[in-house]
Amino acid sequence: MNVAMQTVKGIPVSPGIVIGRIFVLGEAETHVPHREIADHEIDSELERFAVALQQATADLVALRDRTEQQLGREAAKIFGFHLGLLQDPALLGPIRERIRRDKVNAELAVADAFKKITDQFLAIGNEVFRQKANDVLDLDRRVLGKLMGENESRLSALTEPVIIVAHELTPSQTAGMDRARILGIATDLGGRTSHTSIVARAIEIPCVVGCQRLTSRAQDGDIIVVDGDTGVVVLRPDERTLEEYRTQQQRFSAFRKVLRETAPLEAVTKDGVRIQLLGNIEFPHEVESVLANGGDGVGLYRTEFLYLTNDHEPGEDEQFKAYRRTLELLDGRPCTIRTLDLGADKYTQQRAHEPERNPFLGLRSIRYCLQNREMFKTQLRAILRASAFGPMKVMFPLVSTLMELRQAKLILNDVCEELDEEGIAFDRTLQTGIMVEVPSAALMARAFADECAFFSIGTNDLIQYTLAVDRGNERVANLYTGASPAVLYLVKQIIRAGRRANIDVSLCGEVAGEAIYTMLLLGLGLRTLSLVPSQIPLIKRVIRSVDIPHCEQLARKVGSFDSERQVLNTLRDELRKIDPDSFGGWIPE
Ligand code: PEP
Ligand code: MG
Repeated sequence: MNVAMQTVKGIPVSPGIVIGRIFVLGEAETHVPHREIADHEIDSELERFAVALQQATADLVALRDRTEQQLGREAAKIFGFHLGLLQDPALLGPIRERIRRDKVNAELAVADAFKKITDQFLAIGNEVFRQKANDVLDLDRRVLGKLMGENESRLSALTEPVIIVAHELTPSQTAGMDRARILGIATDLGGRTSHTSIVARAIEIPCVVGCQRLTSRAQDGDIIVVDGDTGVVVLRPDERTLEEYRTQQQRFSAFRKVLRETAPLEAVTKDGVRIQLLGNIEFPHEVESVLANGGDGVGLYRTEFLYLTNDHEPGEDEQFKAYRRTLELLDGRPCTIRTLDLGADKYTQQRAHEPERNPFLGLRSIRYCLQNREMFKTQLRAILRASAFGPMKVMFPLVSTLMELRQAKLILNDVCEELDEEGIAFDRTLQTGIMVEVPSAALMARAFADECAFFSIGTNDLIQYTLAVDRGNERVANLYTGASPAVLYLVKQIIRAGRRANIDVSLCGEVAGEAIYTMLLLGLGLRTLSLVPSQIPLIKRVIRSVDIPHCEQLARKVGSFDSERQVLNTLRDELRKIDPDSFGGWIPE
């Protein structure tokens, strides 16, 4: 068993340092945890395997009986092969032997044994055996599903909070995490703006992603340090390392305390320019966090999360209640609600009969809504009905052509007419705008500005599509940066187009919550930023320390650079200069 301390460098995505015991969370479809076990664990591992086998067999028997009832005895015979295999000593013997001899966890022993049989069938190269190989894969998933489906019960049986180590987490898994039980998260995959990372930040759980093969080295119960500020993860830290991190934890909470004092102050620059700081939310209850952190309202409500955390498609009333609740909690403050941004890493792939090959370039966001009109109309009805309860704007995501914007507006108009006919109240002055997050929209911003009431710049996607870098892929994370001169050029053009047309332009990508960018964004002319609520006090502190002419000068200087290194170094230096004590320790590399 591995006992030595190991340090892994990942991507820091949610700040804070946590120290705790590891809980390895596996996913049968995507990742089988590899773990060495101790001598005393062998019996319990064999027992886990026996129980999983029993449960998988019981499920199959039930399925066979149901099939027999519905389709007859002949059809039910196909389960004979499955059930036979689950009792076959030629399969079960080696699995048990592997657990005993190689001291590996049951999941690994099962996955390897089933893979061996699948490969043997595939090697025969005939259609009948290819089909058999599929059956074996199905069985493999069933048994693994039983072994790993215990995650929830294992989690709820814990007596102390843990740090989750996983290959990958979905945004909905992360959104469902209970902060009282989960201290922190570290994953093999992921990027700074993947939605899992965004959610971790929103729920304020320290998190590091992109740790490559962390799960293969981590073991349940081991101590781990997750440093969400630097991206360093330390497995089985020695006493000295632990002591160092405990000291840093204290520094971090002292800084948080200072920031809490900034929260209620006004976001106004030294020369008196008021900046509107809004919060990005996924759920209505996050409004409380926006207000507690001193936000002025909500600039981005990612409504698709209602879909992600439900086992059913939320209907009009359920959506209406969530939107109305958000407005009620905001109590007269503004709210920009974004229509469903499903697709890519959210929702549709898990449900698709055949997943898309390139989901980020596929049927996502407004494209998905325009192809699923009834679903879209249901949401628009819910939004419009809620608009009678407080100041609201509606925003369409990922618009890449003018036709999409026009179609979306036409559907919105249809829904308005329907509500009118039914005598249902809604805000007739409701403004509609778009997220500018695709290069085509940025390049055509002048044309778009003539047909909508506002722009919100979505740098998370704008960076990925401009630089052709997947925002969730740790392997190219070094290429993903808001400091890219190409991205900054587009941001500048969008702001300029908005200004010419006299429409509001704000920015709601993650860079709005990163202190090194604040001066630059103000210098480029932005006066409204929407960001993760917990970062509002930090950004406010930067705003209160600067004046606009200085920011404009910085923006001009940065605009002349042709490398992201130059941009980043300059932004970092400027931030350090304005307040070395406060910001010095919290500037990302
Ligand atoms: C963006 O793309 O910048 C954005 C804010 O939207 P999301 O992160 O939800 O894609
Ligand atoms: Mg986006």
